[in-house]
Amino acid sequence: MAEENHDSILGKLRSGETVPCEICKKGFYIPYNTTPDKAHSFNCSNSDCNNRINIDAVIDVE
Ligand SMILES: [Zn+2]
Repeated sequence: MAEENHDSILGKLRSGETVPCEICKKGFYIPYNTTPDKAHSFNCSNSDCNNRINIDAVIDVE
C-alpha cells in the first residue's frame, strides 16, 4: 500500500530533491550527518516532529 509511495520518496531523497515531511507537513527530510546519496537515514527538519526515514530497510531488497 504505502510502500510504493515510500519508495518514490526515497528515490527523490537520494537524488537530493527536497521532500516535505508527510507526517507534520511543515518540515522536510534532511540527510542525517552526510550527503543525500550516502545517507542511511533522513530526519525531518522540524524539531517538533522527529520523523525519520531509514533507507537500510528498503535497500535490503538486494
Ligand atoms: Zn515532520
